Amino acid sequence: MSAAKSILILPGDGIGPEVMTEVRRVADKLTRTEAIDFDIGEARIGGAAIDADGVPVTEDTMARAQAADAVLLGAVGGPKWDDLPFAQKPERALLRLRKELGLFANLRPAIVFDPLVEASSLKPELVRGLDIMIVRELTGGVYFGEPRGIETLSDGERRGTNTQVYTTGEVRRVAAVAFDLAQKRDNRVTSVEKSNVMESGVLWREEVTRLHDSDYPGVELTHMYADNCAMQLVRQPKQFDVIVTDNLFGDMLSDEAAMLTGSLGMLPSASLGVADSRGRRKALYEPVHGSAPDIAGQGVANPLATLLSFAMMLRYSFDMDGAATRVESAVSRVLADGLRTADIMQDGATRVSTQQMGDALLAAMDDT
Ligand code: NAD
Repeated sequence: MSAAKSILILPGDGIGPEVMTEVRRVADKLTRTEAIDFDIGEARIGGAAIDADGVPVTEDTMARAQAADAVLLGAVGGPKWDDLPFAQKPERALLRLRKELGLFANLRPAIVFDPLVEASSLKPELVRGLDIMIVRELTGGVYFGEPRGIETLSDGERRGTNTQVYTTGEVRRVAAVAFDLAQKRDNRVTSVEKSNVMESGVLWREEVTRLHDSDYPGVELTHMYADNCAMQLVRQPKQFDVIVTDNLFGDMLSDEAAMLTGSLGMLPSASLGVADSRGRRKALYEPVHGSAPDIAGQGVANPLATLLSFAMMLRYSFDMDGAATRVESAVSRVLADGLRTADIMQDGATRVSTQQMGDALLAAMDDT
């Protein structure tokens, strides 16, 4: 058996601990059936940590996150902590994790599972079989660029400023993630910017092209303006394989693509950092949804987004494509069998609890 894969699980708040219970059962099953040696630790984060430790994330948890091969997060936040000052809110823990782990590439798959094709607001023929990966630059661009701020001018007018700024290295490292991913998929990358009106977009396009020509000539690269990409995503989404774009455009386009699938409880994500000398990247996996306080504690949350995030971990942090596919195929199978948590319920389907969905998934893994 190879070295243990260390995972830090951060269940968080609301439905986070409920869905994470199902992940642990799946991890246990993989340990038993595939002899994968997981070394799983768990720590508090968000509101749970504020209540127990007085801070949204402790130094000890940060150190454990840095040391782990991968981190899996449930969700943080809830009404109990809504009135805290911004610097003490549960969400600060997430920002700190992303910043200190240096997570510069956010991976947001938009996959339409066949049995859920009707959940999309687009026509079934447009989204059936959809499988897009959006790679969003996460630590640069206009959300972080300087100068920024609001100032009062001499004539009394006020001026708000944010700066879109990218360096060669920032563009190249996120583009490399996109090209690497494409090589494991349909081998196509669409790079998205606004080089028609923004110099930072010109630089983005030039650097992506340079990296492509020198290191990834076998990958099909196209360029698209962000406004056109927004239209194409709802006009003909299946034209895309991997989309790579900056922080601002990626924020919007990944949410737009997510809604092509129509179901928040099904959406996983990954955030990756710089590779170390052994090629290991810091990595955080989490569902796109939040802590869903409206249904927390009822045992009805959909665990599939978190389970699919765990499958992404198997694939991208541990290179275990077989185990990842086994989990993903089991998800397809339970959906095909008509099992649905309340959020994805359809006429004629069987409504199940969080735990029953986990039971069905474990059983389906035996057949995949
Ligand atoms: P939300 O994603 O928690 O919930 C939106 C709606 O979707 C709710 O009706 C909820 O019941 C439903 N939903 C979400 N996930 C579901 C699941 N797995 N199964 C079934 N139904 C599900 O978003 P919100 O209501 O805007 O935010 C609630 C709290 O979560 C807030 O405190 C917010 O700050 C926090 N939040 C955290 C994260 C995160 O931890 N990454 C992300 C978004 C929101």
